[in-house]
Amino acid sequence: MIDPAVEQLLRNDPKSYVIPAAVVANVTATNTLEHALMVLSKVGYSRIPVLDPDDHLQGMISLAAITDKLLHVPGAAVEQLSNYTVADAMLPVEHWVDDPAKLETILSYMVDEPFIPLLNQDNVFQGIITRREILKRVNYLAHNLDDHYLVTPREKVIENGDH
Ligand code: AMP
Repeated sequence: MIDPAVEQLLRNDPKSYVIPAAVVANVTATNTLEHALMVLSKVGYSRIPVLDPDDHLQGMISLAAITDKLLHVPGAAVEQLSNYTVADAMLPVEHWVDDPAKLETILSYMVDEPFIPLLNQDNVFQGIITRREILKRVNYLAHNLDDHYLVTPREKVIENGDH
């Protein structure tokens, strides 16, 4: 369980650490891999969501998955990617949340994932929560904890940090 004081400071206005769907780069499963490669190169991210026409999250596409596909095509050349669709290299969605206030879940997923998709009850994509946005909160917490709480060590801290 996250310490309630820490959770309160990190979670203050959970919506503020969600990057809304409207500004999240994405592709559809029917786009060609050539198109996906262009989008990934343009936005400079290594992994983005794959959405269906009704904005349901279908999977993820990554530079690594596209490169891997290319390496398995005989005589691999980037032009070959126009013969394949995102569905051919799409990765499954392993983790998501339906509420940005579920901070404990978000933090545990975020150990392994650079961003966590946010879906509503109908599985419609609402946006993402990124490590960067959470780290900004952690940074705020690290600098402002004693503005909000009186922090005193339980035991005397010895100089080398052991206690
Ligand atoms: P960051 O914590 O800002 O480095 O973002 C972590 C990851 O989230 C990036 O590597 C991308 O995969 C994804 N991401 C962040 N912002 C966007 C965005 N606007 N559109 C699509 N993916 C994004």
